[in-house]
Amino acid sequence: TVALKDVTKVFPDGTIAVDNVNLDVGDGEFMVLLGPSGCGKSTVLRMVAGLEDPTSGAIVLDGELANDLAPRDRKIAMVFQDFALYPHMTVGDNIGFPLRLSGVDAEPRSERVADVASALGIGDVLGRRPSQLSGGQRQRVAMGRAIVRRPGLFLMDEPLSNLDSGLRAELRAEISGLTRELGVTTLYVTHDQAEALTMADRVAIMRRGVLQDVGTPTQVYGRPATLYVAAFLGAPR
Ligand code: ATP
Ligand code: MG
Repeated sequence: TVALKDVTKVFPDGTIAVDNVNLDVGDGEFMVLLGPSGCGKSTVLRMVAGLEDPTSGAIVLDGELANDLAPRDRKIAMVFQDFALYPHMTVGDNIGFPLRLSGVDAEPRSERVADVASALGIGDVLGRRPSQLSGGQRQRVAMGRAIVRRPGLFLMDEPLSNLDSGLRAELRAEISGLTRELGVTTLYVTHDQAEALTMADRVAIMRRGVLQDVGTPTQVYGRPATLYVAAFLGAPR
């Protein structure tokens, strides 16, 4: 589980990126953080990952205060918009890299890599380099590298925004299917309303650093908390 309690982030230049946010993500839940560009979504994710310190408030992971935990001690996997694959490594080595870092031997490592790759439909390209893949395949490699260590929490920051719309729709279903299959708690960032409403167990809608509404897609669409939420979702009111 993840809990943000009264979390605020003010950058040194005075920008209030996140303003007193309270949010709970349940065990195994797929939570989508939705809002327009600049509203503070990535900053929230980066604070949960430990890449950014909150100015005030608490980040609680599995019931424990995590503010002072280093990123590598948070049992978190993160997938970014640009995938951030290692260009000089094969697909298999990219996926297996987190296991190598934590000292897993070559044989169990390659077994685990093969399992993950076949679950993602990229079992036949393990020997290629990222530059020899399609965008969708690269995205799957990034997912594979993220889940290979069975993280307790999956953080995704607009992982589909660089892909064309057909592929996006396909991968939406794949990502939500895979995370549910694994039962992994997920915090997924997007500015795309349709993506949020189709993938989420619950959606959290942000505007200018402030959380506006949290609920199931049916709840936020059917009974938006504010006029802003209604307008942003294009919901009837
Ligand atoms: P996008 O959808 O464009 O990725 P976002 O919702 O992820 O936007 P953030 O990246 O969290 O938004 O940024 C929130 C606000 O904080 C923005 O106004 C941004 O300019 C500001 N910001 C982000 N990083 C810094 C920084 N290091 N220093 C100062 N301001 C920052
Ligand atoms: Mg962002």
